[in-house]
Amino acid sequence: MTSSCIFCKIAAGEVAAQIVKRADGMLAFTDMSPQAPTHLLVIPTTHVGSLNDAKDPGVLGKLMVFARDIAREAGIAKKGYRVVVNTNPDGGQTVFHLHLHVLGGRVMHWPPG
Ligand code: AMP
Ligand code: ZN
Repeated sequence: MTSSCIFCKIAAGEVAAQIVKRADGMLAFTDMSPQAPTHLLVIPTTHVGSLNDAKDPGVLGKLMVFARDIAREAGIAKKGYRVVVNTNPDGGQTVFHLHLHVLGGRVMHWPPG
């Protein structure tokens, strides 16, 4: 737990969030500023600052499978969805605790902004 990290606080239950699923060191909750009808965030409950800082390939694999599973459970898997990992300022990262955005429920456009 990093004391100033908002996602660590959500993982610890110190800050409220709409929790969707918690299992095996992973947590999914709804994004407070949704960019699609379904917009979930998936995090490891142990602090990792960004994709650049991720040391354990196993954690990255588990995050991806978790994201795939919650997309299925949210009912967006069949039509399609997008998984995004913004990394550092040019990548648009604003919260420095590794997270996957799972976006669906509308058609996604390409290229992203
Ligand atoms: P990023 O810009 O990729 O770092 O994404 C951070 C995301 O976290 C944004 O989409 C925010 O809306 C979301 N967010 C920040 N604080 C909270 C919070 N307390 N609860 C839920 N979502 C949050
Ligand atoms: Zn954290």
